[in-house]
Amino acid sequence: MKFFKCPCCSKLHITRVNGIAFENTFATLQDYTIKKKLKCSKCQNNLMVLVHNKKGETKIIWDEYYRIYDDAFQKQEQLQIKKDQILSLEDNNEKEEALNKVLKEMRDHQNEVNVKQSKLRIKARVISPDASAGMTDRLSI
Ligand SMILES: [Zn+2]
Repeated sequence: MKFFKCPCCSKLHITRVNGIAFENTFATLQDYTIKKKLKCSKCQNNLMVLVHNKKGETKIIWDEYYRIYDDAFQKQEQLQIKKDQILSLEDNNEKEEALNKVLKEMRDHQNEVNVKQSKLRIKARVISPDASAGMTDRLSI
């Protein structure tokens, strides 16, 4: 049996975890196994219970919310590779222009992530306003 709080609304959940493992498509959580998927009965969000493959520690995520971070992480890595390639350019003018462009792309991308996550938090607060205190802290990665 696992006891945990919903990362969104802090409702306490008690769940049984058996031998089943679900397909894990999170790039940033490849050290974990997804042991359980459930829907929080209070805030209606989809939650996942993950267990670290070596340390055995449990991690609870709000699927949609974490997915935004995970997608963003992969995109940010691609932008980082692009940036490294630009830094090796020989022509300084060309380098500066390309660098400004990729840095802007990185900022825009980060803003987009913040907006998407904040929309989800706002939606969750509407559904369960009494549990919204500390939500941002609980969800910070
Ligand atoms: Zn919840």
